[in-house]
Amino acid sequence: MKITGVKINYYHICHTKLWLFSHNIALEHEHENVNIGKLLHEERYSKKKKDITIDNTISIDFVKQRNGVMELHEIKKTKKMEDAHLRQMLYYLYYLKKRGVEGKGVMNYPLLNQIREVELTPDGEKSIEEDIRGIEEIVTGRMPHPKRMRICPKCAYFEFCFCGEGNED
Ligand code: SF4
Repeated sequence: MKITGVKINYYHICHTKLWLFSHNIALEHEHENVNIGKLLHEERYSKKKKDITIDNTISIDFVKQRNGVMELHEIKKTKKMEDAHLRQMLYYLYYLKKRGVEGKGVMNYPLLNQIREVELTPDGEKSIEEDIRGIEEIVTGRMPHPKRMRICPKCAYFEFCFCGEGNED
């Protein structure tokens, strides 16, 4: 099974979302949050080498070399999903390390004027391996029953999960 950064991210957000996405039920492109992020990305970082995709597995906003170290940069609007975003970055570092490339991650929060560096530690590697096993278990099983959360009304799968239940939250 191909493990992508998006799957790692969804694993830490919602297992139903992970399952739907992994079974090619992809609705994300229809949601306006994606377009806002893209816009932000294009306006603030137009001069960097960007939108790097590696092996159709890693999709990174831009890459820089600093003092001989490869820096993978992600741009985020808020820290609302910070944990999932950090795990996704850790997975990128893990994936590259397995292929002989050491790097470091940098999360950019331009609207908050903050950055956060991410390094892959031995514990981080182990936790990513646990994530991979967890993802395989979920994706090969039955669809996890949707559990309503605060983020659901903003999720592209909302109508799929809660059709007929209303939109109040
Ligand atoms: S609507 Fe909620 S339960 Fe359904 S996939 Fe999205 S986050 Fe998960």
